[in-house]
Amino acid sequence: MNIIDLKKVVYEYFRRDDEGNVTGITTAVDHVDLSVKPGDFIAILGHNGSGKSTLAKHLNAILYPSEGTVWVDGMDTTEEDKLMQIRQTTGMVFQNPDNQIIAQIVEEDVGFGPENLGVPTKKIWERVEESLKAVGMYEFRKKSPNRLSGGQKQRVSIAGVLAMHPKCIVLDEPTAMLDPAGRREVIRAARALNDVEKITVILITHYMEEVIYADHVYVMDHGSVKMEGSPREVFSRVDELSALHLTVPQVTLLADRLKKSGLPIKSGILTRDELTAELVRIKSGR
Ligand code: ADP
Ligand code: MG
Repeated sequence: MNIIDLKKVVYEYFRRDDEGNVTGITTAVDHVDLSVKPGDFIAILGHNGSGKSTLAKHLNAILYPSEGTVWVDGMDTTEEDKLMQIRQTTGMVFQNPDNQIIAQIVEEDVGFGPENLGVPTKKIWERVEESLKAVGMYEFRKKSPNRLSGGQKQRVSIAGVLAMHPKCIVLDEPTAMLDPAGRREVIRAARALNDVEKITVILITHYMEEVIYADHVYVMDHGSVKMEGSPREVFSRVDELSALHLTVPQVTLLADRLKKSGLPIKSGILTRDELTAELVRIKSGR
């Protein structure tokens, strides 16, 4: 069974005037089908306003579809009596770590979620420890979150979600406010959750280089899925990505230009090592 299933999901925001009359409708999600298997690492790409956050909010019943159906671990998100279970299945991490951290000490912050769920105290501390270790923040457990870098704060936010033992974590542009070092830390932590903890990860981003390790990539534009496939399949379609205002990783772009200028380079190059290997192969005439 899929952990997440969306069938023909539509979401419309209604604009209203002061009297409450509808003055306009934005279709933010437009007939999206999406399925995620347990243990997958899925990436959702798209420029600003393409509908990524609206879609993400359907994955733990913050929003309900105007049309179509969303299932989380087999539960239809509109079933009211399943709300708690749905929210526990998919944890969310948002863009701004400062809005997500509440306590004055890192370990207390991470313990907040499980405490709210009524987990016994001794178990809370076990969960706090394992979650902080999973994101590489255990040595900071006694620190004040205010003293941490953006990347460290965001990893504490991830630990806080992890401590609630979700099956799936949705990260909505978790690196958008971070410097390159912070971005790398957070992406590494997200990959470890998937590789080591076997948690399903849905990473929303507009940084292409963050998705090269994903199992499957969806590209959104104007609320609908315009491209999907493995990172290699998607990144071999450089011109389409550019038309959707997405900047392809430099090495992919360079490989694409070399290919178009006549070098027999394979398409969908994702890393510098792959490009080097291709150039060596071509030079040696193999
Ligand atoms: P993304 O996360 O890809 O930037 P969003 O899901 O935030 O995209 O937005 C998709 C569309 O829905 C945009 O046109 C945006 O202006 C609109 N939108 C988002 N949130 C609201 C809201 N609360 N009320 C009305 N329109 C909204
Ligand atoms: Mg967004």
